Amino acid sequence: MFCSHLKGTSLLVNEKLAAKARTIRDPWGKTAAHVVVESTSVFTNKGKVAAHLKSYQKELVAAKKAASLAARLCQKVQKSLLQSDVQSKLDKSPVTVADYGSQAVVSFVLERELSFDPFSLVAEEDSGDLRKDGARDTLERIRLLVNETIGSENTYSISPLSAEDVLVLIDNGRSEGGAVGRHWVLDPIDGTKGFLRGDQYAIALALLDQGKVVLGVLACPNLPLAPLGVQSSGSQTGCLFSAVTGNGTFMESLDGSSSPIKVTVNPTENSEEASFFESFEAAHSLHDLTSSIAKKLGVKSPPVRIDSQAKYGALSRGDGAIYLRFPHVGYREKIWDHAAGAIVVTEAGGVVTDAAGKPLDFSQGKYLDLYKGIVASNKKLMPAVLKAIQESIDEKPASL
Ligand code: AMP
Ligand code: MG
Repeated sequence: MFCSHLKGTSLLVNEKLAAKARTIRDPWGKTAAHVVVESTSVFTNKGKVAAHLKSYQKELVAAKKAASLAARLCQKVQKSLLQSDVQSKLDKSPVTVADYGSQAVVSFVLERELSFDPFSLVAEEDSGDLRKDGARDTLERIRLLVNETIGSENTYSISPLSAEDVLVLIDNGRSEGGAVGRHWVLDPIDGTKGFLRGDQYAIALALLDQGKVVLGVLACPNLPLAPLGVQSSGSQTGCLFSAVTGNGTFMESLDGSSSPIKVTVNPTENSEEASFFESFEAAHSLHDLTSSIAKKLGVKSPPVRIDSQAKYGALSRGDGAIYLRFPHVGYREKIWDHAAGAIVVTEAGGVVTDAAGKPLDFSQGKYLDLYKGIVASNKKLMPAVLKAIQESIDEKPASL
């Protein structure tokens, strides 16, 4: 890849090479080139700075490619979901062939694209249930889906993966994360319940470096490109959000037909005109509590309830101004449910904290240690939102 050996360096090159750098095309499409060139510092032989170099560009290209390919697999499964495609995990939550397939595809792409780097992946699924006797047909369906998806991307010419290869790819995700080194963080299908309903879901992939989220990608196959509420029946759906620390948040169409545009959070300072996002599933967030918070803020519009980190994506482009999430007592949030979404919002100018206003700490392993819940908004609104949250918690302490 063009930038892989340039990371963190400045080069002295001639004018011709600098011009070539501006037009170079990644096999994945113009989007990768756009970002690489935009973020590359190339000094011409006249000593002029042609552009600015930032880190993580090679990782960004790989992450976008991984999430987009995984989304292709998920879209295929969602279109013609079979009853046998859905299983139940030990905790009774659903898991589908697409969750496993998506994890295998992301794991494959990251390993391939970043083969020179040590590879650590913290991901939601593992192969335990797939290795059981009764799972042979399910595993074969996943294997076919993964091979078909990888085969549809013409930069990979490999012989078909075996069932064991697929299981190993899934189990690459067994890392525990932590504060040292680099770790990829993946939710292969965030919002599996939305996926099963035919609603919103996301492939959420982030990179932690020394405990901080430095890169995030959200592929949202069912999210319209136009802002929520204003799209017409023919609106294009499928958004890819991407963010790298210090570089802003970009949105493009998932099928690569549109160039990335920079997005920013809704700037409203008036809480009365701020609409808010929350989980579709009442089991995932206390709708009573959020309704009380919204009332205190004078929010007029009803809550926008959608599944998955698509909420963070929609928030990053200003569709609404607040995201509230208050799980039932005893639930522990996982890093893969928030890492990509959090950087997508913060790089778009927003803030993401727990209910006490403390930034989320992704350095403690798989779980997030936080006070009561998660809230995201713009910087101006946040103090009022946190105040309304604390007042509502004080009124209903038993529910949290
Ligand atoms: P959302 O679609 O925003 O409601 O969030 C979906 C994610 O919530 C899933 O991917 C799960 O990891 C996570 N989840 C599962 N059970 C719960 C729960 N009881 N409370 C909060 N979140 C949950
Ligand atoms: Mg999830």
